[in-house]
Amino acid sequence: MSENVEKYIKRKVYKSTSSRIAQKFVDAGLEKIRACINCGTCTGSCPSGHRTAFRTRSAIRRALTGDESVLSDIDIWLCSTCYYCYERCPRDIPVTDMIIKLRNIAVEEGYILDTHFTLAKDIFYATGHGVPATGENNKKWRDLRKSYGLPPLPPTVHSYPEAVKECQELMDAVGFKKLLDNAEKLKKERANAKKKDKEE
Ligand code: SF4
Ligand code: SF4
Repeated sequence: MSENVEKYIKRKVYKSTSSRIAQKFVDAGLEKIRACINCGTCTGSCPSGHRTAFRTRSAIRRALTGDESVLSDIDIWLCSTCYYCYERCPRDIPVTDMIIKLRNIAVEEGYILDTHFTLAKDIFYATGHGVPATGENNKKWRDLRKSYGLPPLPPTVHSYPEAVKECQELMDAVGFKKLLDNAEKLKKERANAKKKDKEE
């Protein structure tokens, strides 16, 4: 992007916004979201949107205008982070980073998908591994590794189980566990409120 265009965008971007979600983007240094002209190039470029209901432009627009329902919309998890939209956006908006930020906000506010939560807490945090190969259920992975002439367990925490605690200490230090605990709490509170509403 030329320096002139960069200056123009900066001149047009305001530091405060009435959208709580857009404000979070601005606070995180992603104020370029305000420069979106709603042209739809991102949507037209999105390989995920070609096969699903996910519409990139719409997700950005909803974040910009403060439509909170975007946080609980399962569609934001359909982006494959291929960066095609970012390459093609005429306003040089880091669209992929925006989608990732949207997901971060969603998780912070308890809109984490059950499968992601299980993977993050019960598997990744508990075992220090995203794809565990231990346990009887995962024998097929060990057999597959052996068939390629590899040791049945990779040289990670699987081979050094004493390192799991260190992994957990690292995850605690960066606030990963706290983030998950908070998301779980908010998720439960929301589910209870919904149940109560139905009963009334
Ligand atoms: S391509 Fe860029 S400017 Fe166009 S709608 Fe998408 S984010 Fe906005
Ligand atoms: S990065 Fe995500 S939103 Fe952008 S084109 Fe790829 S799948 Fe679509």
